[in-house]
Amino acid sequence: MRQQAGSLQGRRILVAEDGPDNQRLIRHILTRAGAQVAIVGNGQDAIGAIESRPDSDRPFDLLVLDMHMPVLDGYNTARRLRDRGECIPILALTAHALIGAGAECLAAGCTAYMSKPMKPADLVCTCAALIAAGGERELSPTAG
Ligand SMILES: [Mg+2]
Repeated sequence: MRQQAGSLQGRRILVAEDGPDNQRLIRHILTRAGAQVAIVGNGQDAIGAIESRPDSDRPFDLLVLDMHMPVLDGYNTARRLRDRGECIPILALTAHALIGAGAECLAAGCTAYMSKPMKPADLVCTCAALIAAGGERELSPTAG
């Protein structure tokens, strides 16, 4: 656990998750790793938070996206963001390790996926890797 402390230092992560227990848990894990965490309870609010960001705000480095939410689920949230040209890395959280669920997440435009319940260290490592990869992509427009 020790080497992961601070690995998300200063990163801004938006979490879209409707379950209060999971909201608390994910906030705790990511905050402990140094991230600044904002939480919304559905996909529509996630899109709003990403798109209505004031120019003075630094953009989010990562969206952690629960796939099963009211109002607008994770699949449709990812599709809408990608349709609008939004390139933020998206980590999909699926409720269970259903065969095919991961592929569906990627098809919807998510960058990677994990099934719940997540191990804290795995969540932090995956978030850090996605943010690092996202930054590289931004710096090298020919990639991908
Ligand atoms: Mg949910």
